[in-house]
Amino acid sequence: MSYKTKKITVVRDAVYQYVCDHCGDTHNIQEVDQYYRLPKSWHEFSSGHSDWGNDSIESHEQHHACSAKCYVEILKKQIKENKRYGSFKIDDLNHEFAKGLTQLKFD
Ligand SMILES: [Zn+2]
Repeated sequence: MSYKTKKITVVRDAVYQYVCDHCGDTHNIQEVDQYYRLPKSWHEFSSGHSDWGNDSIESHEQHHACSAKCYVEILKKQIKENKRYGSFKIDDLNHEFAKGLTQLKFD
């Protein structure tokens, strides 16, 4: 053996809770695992724009929704706050398309 090992402790940040960006509902993670996935009823997505300027990098945000209803509310809020950016995308959807989704009416 050309090397020796010893036990080390690595300290790093780990996600232990997801918070819905609309209603504030939380989902606790029981086991800290880097491959952990959200429950199937939750959705994780990102938004941001690529218009000219340094703020395009800072505009990229991660969002978490606990339900389809909260997802639509987050879409509405993000579209309203970012409509001045022509290239704004949310959940990989052009903002004009996403706006159409938020205006759908169901029985
Ligand atoms: Zn929610």
